[in-house]
Amino acid sequence: MAILLLVIFAFCAAPRQKGAAMAKYDGPPMNLANMRANGVRDVDAECASCGHFSTANVDPLPGDVFVPDVGQHLRCSRCGGKKIRTRPAWHSRSRPGFDGT
Ligand SMILES: [Zn+2]
Repeated sequence: MAILLLVIFAFCAAPRQKGAAMAKYDGPPMNLANMRANGVRDVDAECASCGHFSTANVDPLPGDVFVPDVGQHLRCSRCGGKKIRTRPAWHSRSRPGFDGT
């Protein structure tokens, strides 16, 4: 028992490496071509003015548009706001074998 407690204490007392798990990404934001290559064709869009949230298909936009810039092409259907935050709609991703057929 004492050995077990010692092992648990040693594990809990071990110094943790802060930031080792996830390094901050400093590269360019994802563009639509890369998003589509990952099986995602929609973006999640949230209005900065009223908080309205929706998912929008972005097939008509070219692949070189950065995902955060898609909001410049959108307008809030609730309040008409033009400040829209966007991110890939990973939940809409098509995956082989999961298309319901
Ligand atoms: Zn709005």
